[in-house]
Formats: sequence, structure tokens, C-alpha cells
Amino acid sequence: MQSIFMLLMLFAPGIGSTGAEVFLPIDAPDRHSLESLALTRIGGYGIMRAARPTVPSHFHTGIDIRRPHPNYTDEPIFPAARGVVISRRTDGPYAQLIIEHDIGGLKFWTVYEHIAGLTVKDSSLVDPHSPIARFFSKEELQKYGWQFDHFHFEVLKVHPFALGHDGRHPDRYYSSYTLECHTVAGLNRYFYDPLEFFALSWSRTIPRMQPSGLAVPPENGSAVTPRLNMLYSLYEHPAIHYIGGGRSPFLSDDFVSQYH
Ligand SMILES: [Zn+2]
Repeated sequence: MQSIFMLLMLFAPGIGSTGAEVFLPIDAPDRHSLESLALTRIGGYGIMRAARPTVPSHFHTGIDIRRPHPNYTDEPIFPAARGVVISRRTDGPYAQLIIEHDIGGLKFWTVYEHIAGLTVKDSSLVDPHSPIARFFSKEELQKYGWQFDHFHFEVLKVHPFALGHDGRHPDRYYSSYTLECHTVAGLNRYFYDPLEFFALSWSRTIPRMQPSGLAVPPENGSAVTPRLNMLYSLYEHPAIHYIGGGRSPFLSDDFVSQYH
């Protein structure tokens, strides 16, 4: 609650330019607009992911972002804001970067997973206009599986937890809480809904306010962050129709059990 309040304060109109410093992490026509963002069918925040043999069921702690262009060679991924790389792993389908941000006094952490072509090292300073990695290429997807045809993005409220030294991943110092969230309380303790985070950060410039409130039907309402229904009702965007802790009625169990 305190961090949400701080977010609202920092991003409120007239209080600095923090919101302008937060960008969509993709090469989009407008990196300050959710209309430039498309998620996979099960890529919404807060969707329950079914158990797998080695992983209990858990909430999806981020969003699965689709590539913005049909570019299966070098579609770039950018940091959401300036910051510093604090953890890095490069093991194929699970390659990951964690970046620490301090924007206008608000600390937060972003996670980028299922990525390739990392251009940054541990402790690198990053700029939202310089790519840090790219989406998987066609060859990599054929090797790892097409369920990874997206990248997984998270925004953390709290510091990622420290890992012991791992010789196989020498630059992997921290882990997110990606598979740890089995309750709504747990999810909200660690994570922002990335769409809410973006929307709030840009709230001073939301240009598409709609009076309808039809974007999220009540039965799909959010147990995760009730305020989102109000927030999302301000937008007309296909990506948000199944956001909010509910399960989209057109999802099959097969889809829900896919990897994050
Ligand atoms: Zn995911």
C-alpha cells in the first residue's frame, strides 16, 4: 500500500517528470502508450498457472510481451527506465536480466526473461533508448519451443532475493519471486501489475479516457488489484481483456500450463 501511494505521489501531475522516464520495453511507435503493447493469450498479470511436475501452481507474476514486428532476427528489447544491471543469466530459454531503478526516489526492479543477444554485463548502466537484448530468433524458438515466442517482463516492489554463488551462472546474483506467488497477498507483496505501473506512471498524459467501463466484464474482475478494473475501464485495448487475476474463458488447460 505504501509503495502504491508513493507511486501515485511521484507520478501525480505536477510532481516532477518521473512518468516520462518510464517506457515500454519494446520498439513501439509510442513507448508511452499501452496501445503499443500486445500480450500473448495467457500473458496477463495475475493469471493462475497450473502446476507442472516440478512447479506448483502459481500466479503469473509479470506479462508476456509479444514482439511488436514480425522480426525473427533481431527484434530489440529495451530497459523500461534507466538503471543498473544487478543480475544476469544466459542459459538459453531462461536467459534473464534484472535491473535496479531509482527514479525520482522510487526504487523498483524490472525483470526480462526468455531473451537472447544480451548486450549488457553485470553492473552495466542502462538507458531506456539502448537495447539490452532481443527476442528469440526463429532458430532459437525451433530449438527451445515456440511457447517462448514472447518475453516475460516483471516489475518488482521489493528487492530480488540474493542467491549463493553458482559456477554455472557466475553473473546470476539475484532471483525474482516468479514461481513463489501462490496467494494474491503474495503476488501483491512482491509485484506491480506492469500495465498498472505503466499506466500510473503516464497518468498525467492518458489521452484515451473512455466513459464506457466495458473493457473488463465484472465476472472477470480483479481479485488482485480491484482498482485496476476502474483503471482499465479507461482504456480500449485488447491486451487488457483478460488481465486481473481471473482466467479468460477461452483459455484451455494446455495453454494455462505453459511456461511463464
Ligand atoms: Zn510470463
